[in-house]
Amino acid sequence: MLHRQVAEDLTSGHDGISAWATSGISLNGPEGFTLGGTFERRNTKETRLISRRRFIERSSLIAGSALVAGSALASLGTASDNPTTTDPKLLDRAKALLERAPLIDTHNDLPSAFLETKAGDLTAFDMTKPQPTLCADIPSLREGRVGAQYWSVFVESATQKTHTSLHEAMREFDVALRFIETNADLEQARTADDIERIHQSGRIACLLGVEGGHMIENSPAALRNFYALGARYMTLTHWDNIDWADSATDRPEHFGLTELGERFVKEMNRLGMFVDISHVSADTMRDALHVTRAPLIFSHSNAFAIDPHPRCVPDDVLRRMPANGGVVHVNFIPAFVSPKAPEWQEKRTAALKELHAHLDNDKAIAKGIADWGKANPEPRGSISEVADHIDHIRKVAGVDHIGIGADYYEVNPESMVLGLENVTRYPHLFAELLRRGYSDDDVLKIAGQNHLRAMRQMEKVAAQLQKTEAPLVTEGLVPKWTM
Ligand SMILES: [Zn+2]
Repeated sequence: MLHRQVAEDLTSGHDGISAWATSGISLNGPEGFTLGGTFERRNTKETRLISRRRFIERSSLIAGSALVAGSALASLGTASDNPTTTDPKLLDRAKALLERAPLIDTHNDLPSAFLETKAGDLTAFDMTKPQPTLCADIPSLREGRVGAQYWSVFVESATQKTHTSLHEAMREFDVALRFIETNADLEQARTADDIERIHQSGRIACLLGVEGGHMIENSPAALRNFYALGARYMTLTHWDNIDWADSATDRPEHFGLTELGERFVKEMNRLGMFVDISHVSADTMRDALHVTRAPLIFSHSNAFAIDPHPRCVPDDVLRRMPANGGVVHVNFIPAFVSPKAPEWQEKRTAALKELHAHLDNDKAIAKGIADWGKANPEPRGSISEVADHIDHIRKVAGVDHIGIGADYYEVNPESMVLGLENVTRYPHLFAELLRRGYSDDDVLKIAGQNHLRAMRQMEKVAAQLQKTEAPLVTEGLVPKWTM
């Protein structure tokens, strides 16, 4: 029954997706995250994949403006959360610093939005004007003082079952590159030097990040071609395990990286592509830290000690960042920010199970969980809570290991924490950091200098390794399903 409902939920819109998710997930202690439900796919239409993905990144968001209004009111705790009360002097200081920094954001899902809204037809958008259906446009990026943006190449990890990941990745690369090439305000960056040069020229530096190792389909040739196209990080997994690495949100299967996974990490070091350990299990994080010869990044992750979501970074991993030289780029999605989010999610799961136990009518269950949501608004998260994550990472890893990876992915302002609803809002977060006593140097580091430092070190390691290591070939290592 539960699983049939899961399939129904996948086709029944946003809240249904949330219901699927919560019916399947249980939290059993810090690393004991399991997926109790089985994902059933009624078809492989892209809309279904995207729908599931949307649940995945919001994890626990609920549609409905009344509900959001309620949670917004509940969250209006500090002046910094209210856009109208950010100290104008601090805001001006933050903006001036961000213009110097440059501000580098390591995760934005605009390429997927192009494919979702107009099937990748970029003639439908004049990006020099505000775009009400997209999660970024050039005037908004300018207002937010964005100096460099990693555009996410994202393909749902369930495509690994249909062997279509690489094909879909090509569509994402293509639309992202066409977007960059056809806008005079943008220029593709391939190195840290490029980022600084393009920023100084007044354009926005654009880079690509691949969100999920499933997209290379176990092929080092695909990995190298991704690099050639401009990919400068690859997140080892997305929401599901892959053949060579465990995800934070799937059952432990490999207990970290497999031997093939270690080989891919080393090949990324050799190429000069950041190993991104957002989304992966804590064991995969630890294995990647053990194997890598270069700084690695979390492209969009927060601190587990503040929000115990399995996708957040535990302290033992944060403590290893100084020795590695990498950067944790913080995320603005409520489920990964609010300390109350996991508890709320568990309560919602319990409420949904209760409804399934007493009702066999899908519509009644959907109404029941919608009513529950009205009575129990989701914790929205706030600017000050994002700053709390930054404070914690500074305390455990140090200010040299913090960056920004907001994860904007749609126009719905409720999908992000209060006060950071869209890409114009970055200066408000930095004004909050200044209010907390962060120095100008701290702000410059968090905004982008830390990322540039790590990137230069990664490039240096790659240049050295290319002198001594041959490119990876996987004869004998490729898992059976690819044969
Ligand atoms: Zn993500």
